[in-house]
Amino acid sequence: MRMKLVDEPKGLVILVFPKLQDPQWPLWSPLDIFAIASSLMHAGYEVCAIDDRVDPEARAKLARDLPGALFVGIGTKFGDQLRNALAIAQEIKAARPDVPIVMGGWFPSLFPDSVFESPHFDIAIVGPGDFCAPEVADRLLAGEGMEGVTGVYARENGAIVRNPKGHLPDIRKTVAIPWAKVGIRHFILQHGWINLFTSRGCPGECNFCAIYCLDPRRWTALPAERVVDDMEALQGLGARAFKVMDTDYCADVRRVEAISRLILERGLRVRYEVLGRQKNLRAMTDEQVRLLRKSGCTEIEMGVEAGSQRLSDLIRKNLQVNETAETVRRFVTYGIRIKANFMFGIPTETEEDLNETLDLMNELLDLGHDAVRFQMFRYTPVPGGDSAVDDVWKELSREDQQELSLKELADFPVTDMEPDRMFWIDESYEPVLRRVYYFYAPLALLIDVDKAFADKPLWARFLMLLRPLARWRIRRHFYRFPFEKWLNDRFGHPMPHATDDGIGPHEEVLPENRDHIETFMGDTFNPRPPLEPGVSGNGTLPGAPSPKRPKREGSRPLEGASSTPPGE
Ligand code: SF4
Repeated sequence: MRMKLVDEPKGLVILVFPKLQDPQWPLWSPLDIFAIASSLMHAGYEVCAIDDRVDPEARAKLARDLPGALFVGIGTKFGDQLRNALAIAQEIKAARPDVPIVMGGWFPSLFPDSVFESPHFDIAIVGPGDFCAPEVADRLLAGEGMEGVTGVYARENGAIVRNPKGHLPDIRKTVAIPWAKVGIRHFILQHGWINLFTSRGCPGECNFCAIYCLDPRRWTALPAERVVDDMEALQGLGARAFKVMDTDYCADVRRVEAISRLILERGLRVRYEVLGRQKNLRAMTDEQVRLLRKSGCTEIEMGVEAGSQRLSDLIRKNLQVNETAETVRRFVTYGIRIKANFMFGIPTETEEDLNETLDLMNELLDLGHDAVRFQMFRYTPVPGGDSAVDDVWKELSREDQQELSLKELADFPVTDMEPDRMFWIDESYEPVLRRVYYFYAPLALLIDVDKAFADKPLWARFLMLLRPLARWRIRRHFYRFPFEKWLNDRFGHPMPHATDDGIGPHEEVLPENRDHIETFMGDTFNPRPPLEPGVSGNGTLPGAPSPKRPKREGSRPLEGASSTPPGE
C-alpha cells in the first residue's frame, strides 16, 4: 500500500514486513511498520508498506516500486523471519544493487554487527525505527553518511560506522498513526479485534527478556487522551476489541485509571485486553480494578513463568509465587480473566521445579476453567552473536556455548517444535521436560481438544480418552512409561501451547462483579453491532483470499521449538 501526507513527497521509501514462522495466527497488524511509515510521511516522504505475511502480491509490489525507491527497510526478529528477510534482501540487490537496504526490528537491535555479515544490508537500526527513520532518509537523499545518527550502524567505505545506541525515546514525541491512511481496516480480525500499543519498554528486570537486555527498566507511555483517541479512531473504522500489546500496560496505575475513566466518559463501547506485571496488578486499588473492567478490559496477560520461587528469583521476575493465586482470584472476582504465561526449560530447572510450576497451574485452574487461560513457552537462549544478550546464558558458560553466524541465527529454532537437543538443560532431566512440555501439560491443562484438532476429529477423540491419564500424571508427577507421548510423536500432531488464539467472541468474557468463583461462560458483555459494510473483518487485503486459522500440520521431525517472545 502506498501512502503519503503531502502532494509532492521528497522521495519513496519501501518498508517490508517479512513472513514469520508457520502457522502465522492471529495475523496482528504490523504496528512497528505503521509507526515508521507515519514518521516518514510526516517528514514529507511517501511510503510503500508491504506485508509479506498476508499480501499475495507482495513481491510484485516490491518489484514495481523498487526502481523509484530511496531505500528499502526490512523489519525482522531472529529465526524464520530473519531467514525470509535475508532472502528478500538478496532479491532486491539482484534487481537494484545500488539501493540501500536497512534492517530494523528486534534482530538488529540485539545483534547489530551480525547484520553486516550479509553483503546485502547497508544500515542496521538499534531500537525503535520511527525516531531515526526520517534522519536516515534525509541523509540518504542528500548523499550523506550516517555518522552521528543515534541508534544507527552503517556500512560506509568498507568499514562499519557504529553510533551510540541511545535510550528508548519518549513515545509521547511520536506522531499519531493515521489509521485510515495505513489501511488498518484490512487488519481488523474476526470479532473486530485489532492490536494497539500505548507504551514501550518495561520497568521489569527479567534477565531472559530481550526488552530488558536492550534497554533495562525503561518504560515510556502515551497519555490517556492519546490512547483513547486511538481507540475511538479505530472504532470508527470497524474495530470492536483491542489487544493492547504493551509489555506492561499497568506500570503506571494512575494512567490505567485515567484511561478507564476516559473510555467511560466518552461512552466508547469497546472490549480490550492488556498485559500487566503481578507487582503492578497488586498495587491497584479495588476501585481501579472495578473501573478497568467497567471500561471494557476483560483479560490481563501476566507473566508468571515459574511456580518455583528459586527459578523465579533466578530470572529476576520480582514476584512472590505464593501470591499468584490470590492475585488471579481478585481480578477474576471483578470479571477480568487472567491469561498466565509460564516458561519451561529455564536453565538449572529440575524436575522438582517443574512440578512446582505444574502445581501452581493446577491451583489456578481450580479457580474455574473459564477464569484462567494459559500460554506455555519454552525458554530460548540467545547464544553468541555480537554480545551474549542473555544473562542466564552468560552465567551458564557451558562447553557448547558458541558464537553463531548470521545464518545460524536465522536457522535458530524459535518455532513451536522440539529442538534436537536442549543443550542448556541437564541431560538426565531433559526427557522429562520433553514429555511434560510437548505433551502432558498441554493436553492436561491447556487445550480444548475439540477446538484445537477440529479438523482431525478422530485424533481429537483419541486425545480425549488420554486426557484423564495426562491429568493424573500431572497431578501425581508421574512421567515414566510415556507411551501416549510416543503414540503422539509417531501418529499424532504437535500440541498447541496456548489455551486459545486470543481473538474469541465477546460472549466468552466473564461477568462484572462476580461474588464467587465458579465455572461460568458469561454473556453479560454488550453485544456489538455487526461490522460496517466495506470492512473485511478478517485481516484480508483487498482481493486477497480470507486467511483461515491454519490447520495443524502432521507430526514433523524434531527440529524446532516455541520461544518466549520479546517481552514475555
Ligand atoms: S519479561 Fe515481561 S515483565 Fe519481564 S522485563 Fe520482559 S517485558 Fe518486562
